Amino acid sequence: MELQFNLKAYYKTSADPTPAMEAVAAFFEEANRTILTKGAPEGQGALLTGWEIWEDRIKFTLESGKYVRVHDAALRLKKQLSAVLGKEFKIGIRGTEVESFTILVPSEKELKEMKVPYVKRMENVRGGVLLELEVGEAEMKNRVPDRILTLLEDKIEAARYGAKAEHWNLIWQREPMEHPFKEDPTQAMMKEGWLKRGSSRGQWIHGPQSTKVFRTFEKIVYEELLEPIGYREMIFPKLVPWEVWMKSGHAKGVYPEIYYVCPPKTRDPEYWEEVIDHYKVTHEVPTALIKEKIGDPIGGMCYAQCPPFWGFVAGETLPNDEVPIRVFDRSGTSHRYESGGIHGIERVDEFHRIEILWLGTKDQVIAAAEELHDRYMHIFNDILNIEWRKAKVTPWFMAQEGLLGLAEGNVVGTTDYEACLPYRGEDGEWLEFQNVSINGDKYPSGFNVKLQSGEELWSGCSGVGLERWAAVFLAQKGLDPENWPEEFRKRVGEMPKGIRFL
Ligand code: ATP
Ligand code: ZN
Ligand code: MG
Repeated sequence: MELQFNLKAYYKTSADPTPAMEAVAAFFEEANRTILTKGAPEGQGALLTGWEIWEDRIKFTLESGKYVRVHDAALRLKKQLSAVLGKEFKIGIRGTEVESFTILVPSEKELKEMKVPYVKRMENVRGGVLLELEVGEAEMKNRVPDRILTLLEDKIEAARYGAKAEHWNLIWQREPMEHPFKEDPTQAMMKEGWLKRGSSRGQWIHGPQSTKVFRTFEKIVYEELLEPIGYREMIFPKLVPWEVWMKSGHAKGVYPEIYYVCPPKTRDPEYWEEVIDHYKVTHEVPTALIKEKIGDPIGGMCYAQCPPFWGFVAGETLPNDEVPIRVFDRSGTSHRYESGGIHGIERVDEFHRIEILWLGTKDQVIAAAEELHDRYMHIFNDILNIEWRKAKVTPWFMAQEGLLGLAEGNVVGTTDYEACLPYRGEDGEWLEFQNVSINGDKYPSGFNVKLQSGEELWSGCSGVGLERWAAVFLAQKGLDPENWPEEFRKRVGEMPKGIRFL
């Protein structure tokens, strides 16, 4: 089956177009050979398959495939037909009214019913999905039908790509090591009083001991990598409005995992008095009442750490000698609403991460990523001395855009760093503890940043998850500093005493 568009519509006329019958017939016949095929391969343009003249309108039916789509065809026809009717007959076209607009999208799989703006009806048919759109001239001009088609094609592709959201390819692996320690490090830390569960979901209160381990990781990253390469520290905002996520692309999918932020409708104490008094009398926080008194969500808490950086360079042109720019942020927490499996510190709703970010020409960005990979190799082999591996991962949407991470010469994509957790057993799942991504021109183009020379700007980022580093290191080495590698022990120094209880 092939992609098929079908449009039944009419042009409203300012006067009875009957006198122009012959001119209209000649125009449509010619259009089928000229303006409706322009830009399409031979025989694949749009086709006007029927028309009628009423006393106040010209009705028509258009069919097309993917090249000159029916909505474009209708707009092209309107422009030229207006000229014909206006000049000879003094008749104007007042607008386009759509009677029916359907798209037949080929698909091997059935799609589940979904709610999509401007889609009136959706039906699985043999070999495809039939969409009935409710659009007018404005939506056709704004390319809404194209966006709906892209959305559908994405969903069909996702269904075909399978449940697995990314392709995974091993690129490097350290030789297997012995791991005498076999406990779940979170359980062990709880037992030793290193940390306690926070009041919120997937949140921990770190005592002096685990905090010291985190700070040592930061120190290692700073001394072995950030400082020698010349990364500069910045402070990125941690409350992220929609506007930022629209430009970074996160607005396309982040919703199930974010913590939403709603401001109060007003800060007038009187407006909140009822809530305050309710609490004082009942000792219950009246959340339903609060819901009424807060505004729509303005965005969410920091999810990926780098998008809010881009406001700093958005709309600017960078001098050639200003790139590569290398910065990092460690100024606050990241928050994700994680499903299941938040029993330990490895998958939490509130976590700590150093986000490393660089931008420059394509070559500079690739070189900067290589430099990080080298330094990380040194850290994990010679300082933490852990068993780990690297894999190139490609989310399906990139694979679909032909950006397959595996394809020869392609450099855009993410490299995950993973480590085994001995307590999970020989065949247990490995844990991603950080990544290095080359993001191509995605962010510079999303935030409209340019380079003086006109050369394309690229960027990359790397997220060092401190909880994940701790989960990996402590799972493999245990909690006793006696069993930690000398190079790490040197950097930790004296471990602080914990807080004791009776
Ligand atoms: P996973 O597949 O394990 O959920 P992810 O692909 O969602 O990881 P990214 O979005 O690539 O992770 O985030 C970058 C880094 O942030 C991760 O490598 C990890 O160090 C850290 N991170 C992400 N989610 C969490 C979490 N829930 N708890 C702790 N650290 C996290
Ligand atoms: Zn990032
Ligand atoms: Mg995740």
